[in-house]
Amino acid sequence: MNELKQSITDKLNSHEETQRQLAYIQKAGEYVRKLEQELGHKPTCCVTTFGCQMNARDSEKLSGILERAGYELIEDEDADFVIYNTCTVRDNANQRVYGRLGHLNSLKKKNPHKKIALCGCMMQEPSVIEKIRQSYRFVDLIFGTHNIYKFAELLVNMFEADGMVIDIWQDTDQIVEDLPVERKYPFKSGINIMFGCNNFCSYCIVPYVRGRERSRSPRDIIREIESLVADGVVEVMLLGQNVNSYGKNLEEPMTFAQLLREIEKIQGLKRIRFMTSHPKDLSDELIQVMKESTKICRHLHLPLQSGSSRILNAMNRRYTKEQYLALAEKIRREIPDISITTDIIVGFPGEEPADVDETIDVIQKVQYDNAFTFIYSKRTGTPAAAMENQVPEEVVKEGFDRVLKVVQDTARERVSRLQGQTMEALVEEVNEQDASLLTGRLSNNTIVHFKGDKKLIGQIVPVYLKECHGFYYLGEAVK
Ligand code: SF4
Repeated sequence: MNELKQSITDKLNSHEETQRQLAYIQKAGEYVRKLEQELGHKPTCCVTTFGCQMNARDSEKLSGILERAGYELIEDEDADFVIYNTCTVRDNANQRVYGRLGHLNSLKKKNPHKKIALCGCMMQEPSVIEKIRQSYRFVDLIFGTHNIYKFAELLVNMFEADGMVIDIWQDTDQIVEDLPVERKYPFKSGINIMFGCNNFCSYCIVPYVRGRERSRSPRDIIREIESLVADGVVEVMLLGQNVNSYGKNLEEPMTFAQLLREIEKIQGLKRIRFMTSHPKDLSDELIQVMKESTKICRHLHLPLQSGSSRILNAMNRRYTKEQYLALAEKIRREIPDISITTDIIVGFPGEEPADVDETIDVIQKVQYDNAFTFIYSKRTGTPAAAMENQVPEEVVKEGFDRVLKVVQDTARERVSRLQGQTMEALVEEVNEQDASLLTGRLSNNTIVHFKGDKKLIGQIVPVYLKECHGFYYLGEAVK
């Protein structure tokens, strides 16, 4: 009874909060209109995103609120309002933001009415806030990952404040639905199914900046997807730091596999993707649902990080080399046409060349279609950052080059298996390098470029895979 009362209270709170924020959007709109009169033009805004697909989805929410408040969205940082949605997964991400803030300040010197805001994972680090407070006083608004839904309210505070507004929360259990969103692509969309991570891999800052796991209710997720499909979306990417943990905190627990079955039923939805599935708890049920599905794409991102069980243990990944290989083998057996991609870290504290050999052994055995390979980045506040045996740079570099070579060789081999076949591609955009070509994505996530009419963008069309060029194809549209 108490749980039911609690869930109703949560629902009411969330609904009330939605109404409250919608009212703040109105209020922010008054300030934007006032600014328009002062400037003599419709105020412009620019949302710059750093990092992962979770951040890209959050930026679509920021854009939706700014647009509803009366701003015009542009891609140029010379805009009247600029917001950086930051990432902190590696140190170079922080350095990039500090570097670009200097440029923003020079633009602000020319346009004193310009407002600058910072949000996202980097802002969850107290040392960063102190540094910005001291050295970047021209920033007007700072908030974190837990109160993005309060953006309209924070905009109003910014307009009413003299000086920098800072609002960082350590954590939240609040999920607020139905706020405006401005999607980057009309035909596909990311969907948050859960927030936060409880895994605490020893190198990773995410659990400290994104908080504890909390899942959205399946009803809200399905309702959102249904309205997106009604709005022209054919493909969704379900987002979570570890989607396998979906539903654990719901009063009516539901597994990720069960959620997928419900989403599969949505009429008009053509493709379902998801990211990220942790190898430690990827279930047989999930493999079965993927196997039987006609909509779940034939691609699985399965981060390995290291092939050495000794290093995996130090990373707190909670699986061994053998367990990972057995899982990959089972997935390939059950879903033979699946593409598997992965993440690999080279240079984790204590790593020896023999550990890199183990990683290379897994790459050769699993045969990934692609792998994102990173050099270990020390993140203050993570257990790994305090580990003694940090690896010398030249040793890391040597290991990294060895791993990269094997990834490229095996991926080239693997991706080329489709040459000469005709496969369905979702046409995503005009090729950035060659405007006479379109860029499409196969169900297995492989990219194909081919000649075609721009009208095909957003459609799923058959393409003949003529030439393999490593990680992508050149193809021909099949009439
Ligand atoms: S699963 Fe591990 S690597 Fe992934 S976000 Fe969580 S702590 Fe970080």
